[in-house]
Amino acid sequence: MNAVDIIVKKRDGQALTKEEIGFFIRGFTAGEIADYQAAAWAMAVLWRGMSREEITNLTLSMAHSGETLDLHDVAPIVVDKHSTGGVGDKTTIAVAPMVAACGLPVGKMSGRGLGFSGGTLDKLESIPGYRVDLSVEEFKAQLSEVGLVVSGQTTRLAPADGKLYALRDVTGTVPSLPLIASSIMSKKIAAGADAIVLDVKTGRGAFMETLEDARQLARIMVDIGQGLDRRVAAVISDMNQPLGRAVGNALETAEAVATLRGKGPDDFWEHCLAIAEQMLILGDRAKDGASARAMLGEAVHCGRALEKLMEWVKAQGGDPSVLADPPSMGVAPIVEAVPAPRSGQIAAIDAREVGLAAVGLGAGRERKGKPIDHAVGIVFEAKVGDRVAAGDTLFSVHAADRRRCDRARERVLRAYGWAEDKVEPLPLVYEVID
Ligand code: URA
Repeated sequence: MNAVDIIVKKRDGQALTKEEIGFFIRGFTAGEIADYQAAAWAMAVLWRGMSREEITNLTLSMAHSGETLDLHDVAPIVVDKHSTGGVGDKTTIAVAPMVAACGLPVGKMSGRGLGFSGGTLDKLESIPGYRVDLSVEEFKAQLSEVGLVVSGQTTRLAPADGKLYALRDVTGTVPSLPLIASSIMSKKIAAGADAIVLDVKTGRGAFMETLEDARQLARIMVDIGQGLDRRVAAVISDMNQPLGRAVGNALETAEAVATLRGKGPDDFWEHCLAIAEQMLILGDRAKDGASARAMLGEAVHCGRALEKLMEWVKAQGGDPSVLADPPSMGVAPIVEAVPAPRSGQIAAIDAREVGLAAVGLGAGRERKGKPIDHAVGIVFEAKVGDRVAAGDTLFSVHAADRRRCDRARERVLRAYGWAEDKVEPLPLVYEVID
């Protein structure tokens, strides 16, 4: 068996055996298969697809590229959530402490930005000192002491995904159903949670643009998890426009903190409730959506969720003082308010264009391993369904220099669709699959 034969087989549209997939993932993880070969293979998978059996084998190979945690000595039940990737998606930073504050332990392995979508680890790293490279022992100890931990892949946990993820980010190989499903589920299996809520995004700012593709991705991931005796539910949610108002690492982290103070945007708060309620139900903490929402509302309103966030950040080496009200995680040198070029009803804000504008500002990577600028991004003043008058502030650009600011402003302005007549706000959730 060799790497080239496996690449060629997939390039020519044939199914790979369990042994071939295992050989390729082991070789890549060990550094015996080069990045350029893995990139060529990923492109072949993107074009040719994989059968369900191949996806399951790929997921298991990636999950077993390192250790798989058993967390039952720490907690009888641990819950996790994972998004398939979106724009303005800071959900974990608000939802994880909300759920943990309701007494349900949350142990999660997150990822970095991918293509036009942001990544939770990058967002959390806008908090000075926050560590994303916990050892297995540290992960378990924090889960036991704080009831909440969010870390990244290590050489011990799902290392194959860590390497492939970074490569996909910069080789145009992100929007592939088999690669997304195996990337997410391998991390979830390795990190050991018993219950997993998948936030499967659909729309312009998602890797699955159509509802049908999102459903298919959700179904496959739910089946893989359930086949391994995990409790899994998938929430299919809208990602046509950015979620909440802020896009960019520190800006989003600040918005998540504001949400835990009861001052977040309505759409983001509702989205957090939709995900968190499923986590409480799957984790046997609530019997239905209404009781879950009551518990979550109480955890936020009495300040327990915010306290849990502070405790979590501190335990992971972060400086919780930057989460004060208002949070202070670095300000970009240029902050420009952009006026609406016309009056009318906002009919669309193309989330993909906004995500790409944020990457252009430096909030994401154009080359593997490149440092990002945590302070830059875009903050929206109005969303789809809102009416604005010409000259009202539409959004603000937070940029490192004038050239990037101008480029982002023009790109985001082009992302708008306008209407004269009333436009209904976009739905937040399309369906729940369990
Ligand atoms: N999130 C992941 O962890 N992997 C993907 O491929 C997409 C989103």
